[in-house]
Amino acid sequence: MKKQEFKAESKRLLDLMINSIYTNKDIFLREIISNASDAIDKLYYESLTKSEIDLNRDDFNIRITVDKDKKTLTISDNGIGMSEEELDHNLGTICESGSLLFKKEKENRDEIDVIGQFGVGFYSAFMVASKIEVTSKKFGSTDAYTWESDGLDGYTIKKSKKDTVGTDITIYLKDDDEDYEYSKYLDTYEIENIVKKYSNYITYPIIMKKTSQELKEGTKDEYEDVEKDEVLNSMTPIWKKSSNEVTEEEYESFYTDTYYDYQKPQRVFRNSVEGKCTYISLLFIPSHTPYDFYGKDYEKGLSLYSNGVMVMEKCPKLLPDYFSFVKGLVDSPDVSLNISREILQEDKEVTQIAKSIESKIKKELETMMKDDREEYEKFFENFGLQLKAGVYEDYGMHKEDLKDLLIFYSSKNKKMISLKEYVDTLKEGQDKIYYASGETYDKIDMLPQVENFKEKEIDILYLKDYIDEFALQVLREYDGKTFVNISKEDVNLESEEEKKTIEEENTKNKELLDFMKESIGSNVKDVKFTNRLKNHPVCLTSKGAISVEMEKVINAMPTDDHVHAETVLEINKNHPIADKLKKLYKEDKDALTKYTKVLYSEARMIEGLPVENPTEISNLICDLLSK
Ligand code: ADP
Repeated sequence: MKKQEFKAESKRLLDLMINSIYTNKDIFLREIISNASDAIDKLYYESLTKSEIDLNRDDFNIRITVDKDKKTLTISDNGIGMSEEELDHNLGTICESGSLLFKKEKENRDEIDVIGQFGVGFYSAFMVASKIEVTSKKFGSTDAYTWESDGLDGYTIKKSKKDTVGTDITIYLKDDDEDYEYSKYLDTYEIENIVKKYSNYITYPIIMKKTSQELKEGTKDEYEDVEKDEVLNSMTPIWKKSSNEVTEEEYESFYTDTYYDYQKPQRVFRNSVEGKCTYISLLFIPSHTPYDFYGKDYEKGLSLYSNGVMVMEKCPKLLPDYFSFVKGLVDSPDVSLNISREILQEDKEVTQIAKSIESKIKKELETMMKDDREEYEKFFENFGLQLKAGVYEDYGMHKEDLKDLLIFYSSKNKKMISLKEYVDTLKEGQDKIYYASGETYDKIDMLPQVENFKEKEIDILYLKDYIDEFALQVLREYDGKTFVNISKEDVNLESEEEKKTIEEENTKNKELLDFMKESIGSNVKDVKFTNRLKNHPVCLTSKGAISVEMEKVINAMPTDDHVHAETVLEINKNHPIADKLKKLYKEDKDALTKYTKVLYSEARMIEGLPVENPTEISNLICDLLSK
């Protein structure tokens, strides 16, 4: 019999596992029990979908046996079992998900922590085992095999004997040492506590034999020295219990254990719906952005159960993309067990449940926004981008559903507000919603264009996410008020009178302005005097649909489609520089060219755009300084 080596990644993880002393070792039992439950699910599912298999749900169980003399703990299930190949493949390679998480997380987290947080399934048993034996008989097969390993030098598989279908996992506990008391896992009281803590809602009975001394009060028989089976877990799935029967802590630990999160959820909400579609949902909003949330491997979806039996672990159909951050499950008697991935897409019941779930999530978010703004802001920090992307995607198909969930930073309130709140406090006569984009709120706040608005006490929404402006462009208006970028050339804040004066000023100086435009070249569409600036000398605005911020975003994307905002250099008509320019036009055109180039570069810098020819500009500045 040849010894097989563990695959490289597994070996490394094993070393870590075996040698880590900080990890919560108790979780090994949860991992083993959860595998047992999955194996039973698989067989039960087969029996429901194939008429030739006649099995009863009550026949299934998971059994824990303690042997104090041999110092072993055996976890047995009568689930689907594993063939020889499966033993080799499943237990010889580290579980895919575990190793993936491991790779991604190890860059920025303490390695030992990682194991504690995610658990890596079967392998975690090597934290407490000096040897593990897995004897399994696959459903439908007559042969049984035993896989055996001490966790260090690989594993062996040999033919063996087992009467019933299923799997026995025997853990040979390590000897106690000064760091850890492994023998505690031989104590039935200890085992019971761990099962209750981590595996209470496993839907099959977890049975352990207890001696008369160990049995619960009331069930024990004082006079007889007998052993009795006892079911350790409550079995009713947590989602089937009404919310007032479950404590917050229970929901939280269900969440952290099921979704491998190390932080409790921000929000838990359960719904029991009857009517057009009947279902129970238990949903969670994570309290932080999962590390892979914006990666392409992130899979959205809710687990789908049919009367307590899992049909699909992650059903994407149940969540729209913009709510992809929601985790949880749906249990419905209306969902057929035989449903395949493909059919799911079309399934009427599932479609209806998905619709209902979507509105539940929306309602939950609205309530949070209304009743607990601070919490909502935290939520929006984590997942707001997803909602804004939702407004933008599918050609704005979902914008009506999402617009009231958006919040933006308001210059006047100095905090996040909703669009409704903006509109509710509009200044009289204001029929626009103004916004400005930039990298940070501070930077936006310093834009020259902002000053004028502040003086007129007009609120501006500050946008700092790359997607914001695109989302607002898709929305176009809210409550009849159109969105306007304050950096657009035609923002129109002036009175008719002011407009007239500035037009006159620009006509009068047409030749000067044309000369300046020539000096800059094709990069600006126009140069003009403005009265939109208070103390600042210049600013860059844009014409047309593409703003300067959008240009930056689009051009940063890895495509060849580059765009150009049509920019306008605006010069404060009341700034001393205006007079200087007029004077230079008459006296020194050469100097005017230099001034123009410097001013244009200043305006670009303020907008966060690169200066196109920094050496030339730096020389020009020195040239002017030394005069
Ligand atoms: P994971 O459960 O995350 O896939 P594990 O390392 O815990 O990773 O288990 C690897 C695989 O071994 C499981 O996916 C399953 O196919 C198989 N397995 C483990 N325990 C059992 C069991 N008791 N019965 C049948 N198959 C099992």
